[in-house]
Amino acid sequence: TPLSHIRNFSIVAHIDHGKSTLADRLIQQTNTVAERDMKEQMLDSMDIERERGITIKAQTVRINYTAQNGEDYVINLIDTPGHVDFAYEVSRSMRAVEGSLLVVDSTQGVEAQTLANVYTAIDADHEIIPVLNKIDLPASDCDRVAEQIEDVIGIDASGAIRVSAKTGEGITETLEAIIEHLPPPRGDADAPLKAMLVDSWYDAYLGVIVLVRIMDGKLKKGDRVRMMQNGSVHQVDRIGVFRPAMTVVDELGPGEIGFITASIKRVADTKVGDTITHDKTPCEKPLPGFQPSVPVVFCGLFPVDSNEFEDLRDAIEKLALNDASFSYEMETSAALGFGFRCGFLGLLHLEVIRDRIEREYDIELITTAPSVIYHVYMKDGTKLDLHNPADMPDLTHVDHVEEPRIKATILVPDEYLGDVLKLCQDRRGIQEDLTYAGSRAMVVYDLPLNEVVFDFYDRLKSVTKGYASFDYQMTGYRQDNLVKMSILVNDEPVDALSMMVHRDRAEMRGRAMVEKLKDLIPRHMFKIPIQAAIGGKVIARETLSAMRKDVTAKCYGGDATRKKKLLEKQKAGKKKMRQFGKVDIPQEAFISALKMD
Ligand code: GDP
Ligand code: MG
Repeated sequence: TPLSHIRNFSIVAHIDHGKSTLADRLIQQTNTVAERDMKEQMLDSMDIERERGITIKAQTVRINYTAQNGEDYVINLIDTPGHVDFAYEVSRSMRAVEGSLLVVDSTQGVEAQTLANVYTAIDADHEIIPVLNKIDLPASDCDRVAEQIEDVIGIDASGAIRVSAKTGEGITETLEAIIEHLPPPRGDADAPLKAMLVDSWYDAYLGVIVLVRIMDGKLKKGDRVRMMQNGSVHQVDRIGVFRPAMTVVDELGPGEIGFITASIKRVADTKVGDTITHDKTPCEKPLPGFQPSVPVVFCGLFPVDSNEFEDLRDAIEKLALNDASFSYEMETSAALGFGFRCGFLGLLHLEVIRDRIEREYDIELITTAPSVIYHVYMKDGTKLDLHNPADMPDLTHVDHVEEPRIKATILVPDEYLGDVLKLCQDRRGIQEDLTYAGSRAMVVYDLPLNEVVFDFYDRLKSVTKGYASFDYQMTGYRQDNLVKMSILVNDEPVDALSMMVHRDRAEMRGRAMVEKLKDLIPRHMFKIPIQAAIGGKVIARETLSAMRKDVTAKCYGGDATRKKKLLEKQKAGKKKMRQFGKVDIPQEAFISALKMD
């Protein structure tokens, strides 16, 4: 296909605004997939993605389209992940295409993820086609939403295409707009190979599959290619495109998007954003702006049943094979035994991995409080990257501590604004901006990441009844008065419950923690003190009084079956507990105690 007849684009949308449904209609209308193979949401492949309606890995599809001018075009769609955790992947895949459809639900309007993603598209110099979706619904208000797009984003929306991805109305107009308004890709077929590694994933049959966008040159089967970042060399054994099923082709040229396999064993060897070139005749310079995505949120994962440690190791190793941004190392905790300290791109990423371990591998997990990476500057001049609060050095050796900050953008209907401001203020936020877009307020806050990782999103949803949308980006590190708070149960520190807190908020957090734990830990035959402490100083304390009688005493020795049943219940309950010193701590305690109300 000549460059003039190729178009490459992605779809930018807030979650649920209809990105996947629109992609389905485009595929269907161009007969890319036989009708009988059409199932909903072609591009969302993983179960968990389908259930939650989110796309995690970039997916791609090649569409052949005969336009109304009678010419045949090849259109490539890269469906990017919409979630903030995967911002880097989004920004790279946007660099692999020339334009974006900006899909906005015309019954809703612009949301926080719309904004974040459209700015990424603008940064990538995209031509942007606004699409107003869901016009079949009575609540659709295209004029209002078009005006909002102009007000908030500042792009011309007068020619916005009005679409129902559900009924198919406006789909032809969308395809025509892609041909007319998006620029064809540029590139030189005779130059040395320069291709962008857009994404990669592990396939049980084919090994690592690499999604590429060719910038210059040609890529053929049998070519020896080099990844410019890590220098590794591989021989291409398969080359193809997605329709959306994998289809082998002879070669890929400039402007084209497709996949290669090259007997690569580990996804970790294929870094998103890397430049692929020929080993013998390499291009001069790699593509600019490469930065590997790094985990920013860490937590411990421990099996509830310690016999399942090896199964957990197996599950984690398998998941890591397919996910270069998920990191792990073994961790031992006095309270929880053997487990893993794992690193994630964000909270959603954490949740997805945890869910997959529990569901696909059937291992019940205890998850410790998510933590961020603190920079700890020691008095002797050394610096420590702290991933686990349990490893915090003694305060007497510490000069100061820095924590990561984010810029959070929240869009919220006016009536909930007060609650949102209060929530951000409570989480040590600094307000940076407050503007209005119609009846919605847009607030920008500078917040500490650690105040956001645990339950900020849940809280935001609950105080706004689900009407707020939220997005963030990391901005950098700043010094603050941060200390490690330890929790002692029966005078022994429970490492899995220790956390970094701001000194001014330590008493409040400590008090809340010990009160919660008092309710969560069952009574024992003896008194149990529960304390929160900083260094050696106790800042909050509760005492769990001793149990008077054991549960079976109620049975007056009479009913033997009932007595047995109760004992069995007790035993089953015990399995879910962690014995700590002489005290049993139920697993819910580890998560519940860390939630703030
Ligand atoms: P995504 O999160 O942006 O990929 O959104 P989806 O494509 O999964 O759509 C979210 C929900 O909106 C689904 O229940 C769709 O069936 C529905 N939906 C998408 N487009 C339309 C439309 O044009 N009209 C109506 N009525 N519903 C739509
Ligand atoms: Mg989707």
